[in-house]
Amino acid sequence: MFAAMNSPTHIVSGLLLGQAALAAWERARQRPVRAGEKAALAVPVFVVAAFAHLGLDAIPHWFWVGHLGGAVGLPAEWLWRAGLAGLLCLLPVWAAVRREWLFFGACAAGGLFPDLEKAAYFLHLWPRELVLFPSHSTAVSNHTGGLPMWALVTIEVILVCAMIGAVRALHRARLARREPG
Ligand SMILES: [Zn+2]
Repeated sequence: MFAAMNSPTHIVSGLLLGQAALAAWERARQRPVRAGEKAALAVPVFVVAAFAHLGLDAIPHWFWVGHLGGAVGLPAEWLWRAGLAGLLCLLPVWAAVRREWLFFGACAAGGLFPDLEKAAYFLHLWPRELVLFPSHSTAVSNHTGGLPMWALVTIEVILVCAMIGAVRALHRARLARREPG
């Protein structure tokens, strides 16, 4: 069984890093970020988000999204579930990211990257020589820290909700800075 921290956590963490980078940039320059600056910022945010993924994976977790709804018998069921959960977690932050979806798409891709690599490796779509995070992506990890399942789910849900709140708050702060007076 492929196991990882769940897709919403990594997607939302990428979005949060992106929103924080834009908010800091605009605060420092006292003006909205320009398109070229945003494109340039997407690169370091992608890299930082990919490394933040490894940090998040160090928190005790269980791949509960992959078990939701019982077995239906589809091929690579865990992947469909992770994808669906990833889409659902976009709903509460959509208003905060949709106008800059290309930038935030890159941020979310950075947050997900190690798991995309892991999924590709486990599905035999990606050769081991090209794996950038071998200790992460070539090993199955369910790092529970000995905690019960309900505690692991609770920790992750609280973390995701807190990050969603932060993405929305930073977005509101950016909008408020643009309004005169
Ligand atoms: Zn991972």
